[in-house]
Amino acid sequence: MVIETIKAQTTTIPQIVDDLCLACRKCQARDVCRTKAILQIDRGEPPFIDPSRCYGCRACIPVCPAGAIVVEGANTAETVG
Ligand code: SF4
Ligand code: SF4
Repeated sequence: MVIETIKAQTTTIPQIVDDLCLACRKCQARDVCRTKAILQIDRGEPPFIDPSRCYGCRACIPVCPAGAIVVEGANTAETVG
């Protein structure tokens, strides 16, 4: 699909690294996401980002206390630091 191709090129969808995620009782990153793209099925499990809802605003990245939300391919120091 043309639209999907354009979206993939112009937005960078962050990902949640399970090994870093603390699986907080209340995911702060989820709270700031305006499109509710961060989904948590089970409270004891790390949430994940639904790429069909995420528009790549990156508002969730600095909010996560564990630095568990990263942009693949980006400079690690930039995304985690
Ligand atoms: S705020 Fe960060 S560490 Fe906590 S559940 Fe959300 S993604 Fe995981
Ligand atoms: S980048 Fe923006 S839209 Fe995507 S999950 Fe984070 S806060 Fe939500």
